[in-house]
Amino acid sequence: MRLSDLTTLRIGGEIEKLVEARSADEVIEAVAAADDAGEQLLVLGGGSNLVASDAPFRGTVVLLRDPEEPPLLDATCEVGASGEPDGIPVDPAELTPLDPTCGGAIVEYFAGVNWDRAVRYAIAREMVGIEALSGIPGSVGATPIQNVGAYGQEVSATISRVRTWDREERAVRTFFAADCGFAYRDSVFKRTRHSGAVPSGTGRYVVLSVTFQHTIGSLSAPIRYAQLADALGVEVGQRAPMAEVREAVLRIRASKGMVLDPRDHDTWSAGSFFTNPILAAQEAAALPADAPRFDAGQGRVKTSAAWLISHSGIERGHAVGERAAVSSKHSLALTNRGGASSDDLVALARDVQSRVQERYGIRLEPEPVRLGVDL
Ligand SMILES: Cc1cc2nc3c(=O)[nH]c(=O)nc-3n(C[C@H](O)[C@H](O)[C@H](O)COP(=O)(O)OP(=O)(O)OC[C@H]3O[C@@H](n4cnc5c(N)ncnc54)[C@H](O)[C@@H]3O)c2cc1C
Repeated sequence: MRLSDLTTLRIGGEIEKLVEARSADEVIEAVAAADDAGEQLLVLGGGSNLVASDAPFRGTVVLLRDPEEPPLLDATCEVGASGEPDGIPVDPAELTPLDPTCGGAIVEYFAGVNWDRAVRYAIAREMVGIEALSGIPGSVGATPIQNVGAYGQEVSATISRVRTWDREERAVRTFFAADCGFAYRDSVFKRTRHSGAVPSGTGRYVVLSVTFQHTIGSLSAPIRYAQLADALGVEVGQRAPMAEVREAVLRIRASKGMVLDPRDHDTWSAGSFFTNPILAAQEAAALPADAPRFDAGQGRVKTSAAWLISHSGIERGHAVGERAAVSSKHSLALTNRGGASSDDLVALARDVQSRVQERYGIRLEPEPVRLGVDL
């Protein structure tokens, strides 16, 4: 098996050893065995946020699979409940720090569960807060790593705790939301590498399960993204029926090639390839007047990587060679047109970076995790 068989970019080399895991115990067993043997380790979900080299991966890939079973925990709790919501024993201390009295629902998923299955489940149960994250590929366990977000929502708003395997302490460690260090496409899980001598594709903390805390209702969380609000015919800040939000998000995403479709090369990508740059106020002031600017807190300004790319003379479909090109639907996605190598993709990414740097003096940072690839 090759990593190209397991990544949405369809790029990546031969895998020396592959172990599948369908439960937290299986994940711990496989990860501990690889660490004991001093092997390089890559924990993989849907392979939708990974740019891997074509060189062989000399180590163990632990591939998380969706057991396609109900969540590990699914409980509703009334405000001021005695700690046994719906007759399911839940230690109220377990609910901290999002809201000790809960007043909503809590659901815990094994890390290998398909993310969009969790979204569909939440919408069907009228659990609010992840509906705008419909259609994002990959696994539940990967969502806290880069604080997955889209259309004005981020998982950090609903995650109450993340259960991990700490590879250094060799113990299970639970992080409550406040300890996850969530920021824009970032978290403590992304930042904390494993200090072992072996170069590793996966960090110190392997996510075993993620618990979400939702409010209950048929209407969505307030819509924060203008394009989505337009599509729903509501004002920014208003709510809309959750099923309609999901439909609208999926429609918008599909029009940008952001819903996986094996027949459509525009979706052979890792999603947005670059993060939106966060600039100091004076850097932002140097941008043209029509460049997008969003408040990023602490006097900083977030601008749009897609805008920078398209205003640096890079058209959609822009290619370097014949096999790697900017998506024909979205300037932020770099895609494999068929048979692309990791070198093809890196050449394209560098070309985009250098044009933006030349035009605006801003360095675009790649969003996906790189494995054996220097960018
Ligand atoms: C078409 C498309 C659209 C996308 N749209 C969005 C979007 O709107 N918003 C957004 O934020 N992202 C988006 N992405 C990126 C991607 O889908 C998300 O980052 C997703 O959460 C990755 O999940 P995965 O299971 O595929 O991770 P993988 O690609 O399998 O892994 C990514 C990294 O996380 C690590 N990892 C995975 N699981 C675990 C675990 N259980 N414990 C520890 N480490 C782990 C891996 O080792 C690797 O380093 C998109 C990608 C594509 C292809």
